[in-house]
Amino acid sequence: MNLTELIPILKQNGIVGAGGAGFPTYVKLDKKADTLILNCAECEPLLKLHRQVLEKYAYEIVSTLEMIADAVEAKEVIIGIKPSYKKAVAAVEAVLSSMKKTKIGLLPEVYPAGDEVILIYETTGRVVPPGNIPISVGVTVFNVETILNIYNAIHKDEPVISKYITVTGEVKNPVTLKVPLGITMQEVVDLAGGATVEEPVLINGGPMTGMITNPFDPVTKTTNAILVMPKDHYIVSKRTSKISIDINRAMSVCCQCRLCTDLCSRNLLGHPIEPHMFMRAASSGVVDDIKPMLNTMFCSACGLCELYSCFQDLSPRTLISAYKSGLRAKGVPIPKDSEFKAVAKDREFRMVPKSRLTARLGLSKYNFPAPLVETEIPAKKVKILLSQHIGAPAEALVAPKDKVKKGQLIAEVAEDKLGVSIHASISGTVVEVNEKYIVIKA
Ligand code: SF4
Ligand code: SF4
Repeated sequence: MNLTELIPILKQNGIVGAGGAGFPTYVKLDKKADTLILNCAECEPLLKLHRQVLEKYAYEIVSTLEMIADAVEAKEVIIGIKPSYKKAVAAVEAVLSSMKKTKIGLLPEVYPAGDEVILIYETTGRVVPPGNIPISVGVTVFNVETILNIYNAIHKDEPVISKYITVTGEVKNPVTLKVPLGITMQEVVDLAGGATVEEPVLINGGPMTGMITNPFDPVTKTTNAILVMPKDHYIVSKRTSKISIDINRAMSVCCQCRLCTDLCSRNLLGHPIEPHMFMRAASSGVVDDIKPMLNTMFCSACGLCELYSCFQDLSPRTLISAYKSGLRAKGVPIPKDSEFKAVAKDREFRMVPKSRLTARLGLSKYNFPAPLVETEIPAKKVKILLSQHIGAPAEALVAPKDKVKKGQLIAEVAEDKLGVSIHASISGTVVEVNEKYIVIKA
């Protein structure tokens, strides 16, 4: 299949990055790529989705990557995976003999090995320059579930109408489910046997980068995990702290030990982000040198500095993210002439083992299997968002009282705009339509 055939299939079947910001996948198909990498790092504690999907669908996923590699004329496909995901590694090894371009790239058991910039360095030795994207070094990175969605679109004519989600933490039965898009987070928690604590807090995503979510928010194409936590857990208190208090605490107790910088995952690759310098300027109000402030643009928001490194329990990531948003809102461009150092010689000894991070966050007691279960989940009602991807929201093609079938196209994006189509995740009757969502009752 060539790119002219492949791109419309991806767009019409609603395929976006099945995690992160939901970037439309057709835009990533670029002939400048000589290497494709499958991101099966799954580096956040407790998440157990990608390794299980890859184990179950190794042939479908690896053969689809090879097909994409042929379409973009890439020379190599690398499966970026950790040695501890033994069953997934074995499943990939079992299909390699029938592939032409694919090899396995084993990753260190550290966080954040799944950050694209770090994944690329670990598997190819190339460093993406600060402020650039993977294609600048000839690489395109794909999510495991995204590639399975491409396989399903090509071979089964199936659009994206469901999502794999790991549900874990304070739930009766930690599990990884395939659920229809648009059911609520609470319904997914109930499918895992319900919460085991009173007043649980739901986190959409992993403990390092996930955000507290409303239980009645709908599942989207980028929902990877729901973490159920007691309301007094450390990661909940960090997520609910106030910026004004974070700044006051930084002013009082930041001792400039620079541990946040010494362990910063991007700084170790030579990127010019120095959280201790930012904290000095932000807490003192003295900005002799503007660079530490502008260089916040190079922070990946991995959270290591505030959830692992800082022994004073300060919040560099939160303050940096707020500052970075302010710069973006004012239209400040990413610094072009940033100094780019060499990769730290002792990087290997400063990387953070995932097991230590899990223990430090008080999550070891939740680190149990969350087996993949793919039974059909009946939904009574779904609320399907029209903006589940980066780009223009889709425009509804249906109206209240319309009957729709599971998999039917219900919203699309104009041909000249960035975005993908949206489909009904259940059969039923449309009961509400507005510019933000469509509600369907079974
Ligand atoms: S680790 Fe904490 S105390 Fe040390 S420089 Fe960074 S923010 Fe300040
Ligand atoms: S969140 Fe902290 S550790 Fe991570 S890249 Fe940003 S400054 Fe560095």
